[in-house]
Amino acid sequence: MTIQEFTAIKNRTLLCYQCSACNSVCPAFRIEQFSPRMFILRAVSEGMDKAAMDPTIWGCRSCGMCEICPMDIDIPAMVILARMETDKQVNPAPKTKTGHKKIFNLAQKIQAHSTNAPVLNRWPRADQKFTEKGSTVLYCGMLPIWDSLMYTYDLEFKIGLQAILQALNSVDVIPAIPPHLKDSGHDLFYSGDENDFLDLALHNMTILDQMGARTVIVVNPEDYHVLKNVYPLYLDDFDLDIQFWTDYILDHGILEQLRRQAYLETEVHACYHDPCKLGRINKIYESPRILLENIPGVRLVTLRNEKDLAPCCGVTAFIGCDEGSLYLRNERLQEVEDASCEVLVSTCPSCVSHYSCALDARNADNPGLKVMDLSTFMGRKLYKFT
Ligand code: SF4
Ligand code: SF4
Repeated sequence: MTIQEFTAIKNRTLLCYQCSACNSVCPAFRIEQFSPRMFILRAVSEGMDKAAMDPTIWGCRSCGMCEICPMDIDIPAMVILARMETDKQVNPAPKTKTGHKKIFNLAQKIQAHSTNAPVLNRWPRADQKFTEKGSTVLYCGMLPIWDSLMYTYDLEFKIGLQAILQALNSVDVIPAIPPHLKDSGHDLFYSGDENDFLDLALHNMTILDQMGARTVIVVNPEDYHVLKNVYPLYLDDFDLDIQFWTDYILDHGILEQLRRQAYLETEVHACYHDPCKLGRINKIYESPRILLENIPGVRLVTLRNEKDLAPCCGVTAFIGCDEGSLYLRNERLQEVEDASCEVLVSTCPSCVSHYSCALDARNADNPGLKVMDLSTFMGRKLYKFT
């Protein structure tokens, strides 16, 4: 991030008048000791280096609920800057704040430091069309290996990827799926590891440049957010068109395909959970809902808290995967059960993983409820992939 951008974000905090609106909506304030109001006060009065040494900064979920700040102070950006500061000082995230013994974080670090990139395009079905080079790229991040990493749950992200490619092929789009792109670096960025994040970003941009990419269709909201909004902060001349997959296939006429589905389906009551990075932060609310409700047999049920009011699943970058966030996830699952839904659909593999984990403990009472990624749901329900 440039000095000018850093200074602009920091200067804005001088306008804070301690109204506490941020605290009133902050999930971290509800479940633990992090107070965004106090954090901003400390950053202004004592300086960022002191504010960065407060261990409670690891409670922030980067959920964007505090966008209601009347002075337009970017609190999550300030938290990231504080975490970047902790990288230079000694205030690492406490163990309780790095779920799964930091495995996911380490997986990204290994990629950042390795000269070899993983081969990530071996998942398409035999009859599906894609190339390795081209101007329209399907960026899958680490989703091709996610099923193996989260093997405790049957998340079926590979079926989801196949469904997205099937939908693209059905509207005559044959994307490039380059084998050697790396993780977007989302989790490293949100953990304050700016250097390793930059290594990943530079690697990905070099590959995309070399293949003449113009449009990048992204399958994961966290990767989408980072490619669209964070890469341009660091990379000069960034001019890629970054699109989320639901927006892209709707713009390319997928609805006509869906409406031609002739077979009868058993009705399913489904609701949609807006992931923070896609909904509140990037304002993509409609395309996932339009897709979902046009899948034959789906009755879309409205939840009490939707769109900009949708709660955070309680975890970001695997930070905060703890009892507090489990409480938040259970609250949301209760909302879904109260609405008599059979399936909670989201577009974020992280949300799907975290809710699946919470659901596992609840399912004894309600074995019918499921959590699925929209792409997996399409693969199963529409394309009948197994
Ligand atoms: S909402 Fe904004 S102005 Fe109010 S306390 Fe929080 S940061 Fe300060
Ligand atoms: S981004 Fe979310 S968790 Fe972080 S301070 Fe804002 S409301 Fe709280």
